[in-house]
Amino acid sequence: MKIAIVGAGYGGLSLCWHFLQHDGCEVTLIDANGIGAGASGASTGLLHPYPAKLAKRSLRAEEAMREAHALLEVAGAGVASHSGIVRLAMNNDQKKAYQASLPDAEFLDEEAVKSRFPKAISSGGLWIPQGKTVFSKPYLEGLWQACEKRGAKLHLQPLQDLKELDAFDAAVLANGHKILSFKECADLPLKTRHGQALVCRWPASEPPLACSLIGRGHLSLSEDPSLCLLGATYENTFDPKRVEALREQIGVFYPPARDFEILDVRRGVRIAPKEGYLPLVQSISKKVWVFTGLGSRGLLYHGLYGKELSLEIIKSLSH
Ligand SMILES: Cc1cc2nc3c(=O)[nH]c(=O)nc-3n(C[C@H](O)[C@H](O)[C@H](O)COP(=O)(O)OP(=O)(O)OC[C@H]3O[C@@H](n4cnc5c(N)ncnc54)[C@H](O)[C@@H]3O)c2cc1C
Repeated sequence: MKIAIVGAGYGGLSLCWHFLQHDGCEVTLIDANGIGAGASGASTGLLHPYPAKLAKRSLRAEEAMREAHALLEVAGAGVASHSGIVRLAMNNDQKKAYQASLPDAEFLDEEAVKSRFPKAISSGGLWIPQGKTVFSKPYLEGLWQACEKRGAKLHLQPLQDLKELDAFDAAVLANGHKILSFKECADLPLKTRHGQALVCRWPASEPPLACSLIGRGHLSLSEDPSLCLLGATYENTFDPKRVEALREQIGVFYPPARDFEILDVRRGVRIAPKEGYLPLVQSISKKVWVFTGLGSRGLLYHGLYGKELSLEIIKSLSH
């Protein structure tokens, strides 16, 4: 079976790996710009089941975390920090929500937060022990290398017309927000949101953070302990003022962030379903599927939905 996957981000690489687990699948990955050139390369790497402000548990959280974790293992050592994540309560509504009994997270009162993060300001927090901070670039590179070892081919070229996919038995468009540029996909129920994050120097005078912290915005660990990431904006265009304001925004719950030295800016465009937050996975013709709409939960859902779509396509081709 000759399979084409357009897009080498979280979605495309997850699919690629899952197809390669089946005998007889020859996979060609097509990307205009290389591994992790889209939103996945800009991602600040938070992986946990409680992304909404009031910590409502994401649908299918347990299986999604399991599949994401399995892909991290495939990508090899050093691609993530497994030290958990803390969500700080920034108001009473959040505090109440975090105090509710959640299956795999624990409420921390103000004192417990202070003892772990002496410089943080909050009215308590939610400790998510299975939370991970994924170091996007090494992760994507590691996953690609594992796919390449299993025989996947990478074509560095833009796909301009879906007719170019005719030579394949099946194809998946996993090309993030650019999917909307194909006329066959222009009416899919999707919306885009730009996002930026700051790459900052972690001051030598500050003790290292034990894990990533979320307040209004977040402070993420980086693969390089002398750096950290401040994320992320949600906006209609890339506004330089909005990204600079992240230091002040994060300074509200972690005051030292106000003085962090900015080294770089990461930018990407998220694409999400118009309704809800589950990825958009469907066929648009007999041979072409789409896998997109990962929104802000790309890490949570790329493993599970990539695995399920690969199985669905293999089944359809075997009939
Ligand atoms: C600043 C920021 C921070 C984020 N932080 C997090 C986070 O902490 N946790 C989380 O889970 N999610 C986060 N996200 C969201 C996450 O990045 C996305 O959900 C995810 O990257 C989507 O992956 P994807 O594979 O669908 O698309 P993308 O990563 O955008 O990949 C699409 C690929 O397709 C290629 N491409 C596009 N068009 C074509 C074409 N015509 N021909 C060939 N190739 C093409 C591009 O070059 C690109 O490599 C963040 C996003 C941003 C912007």
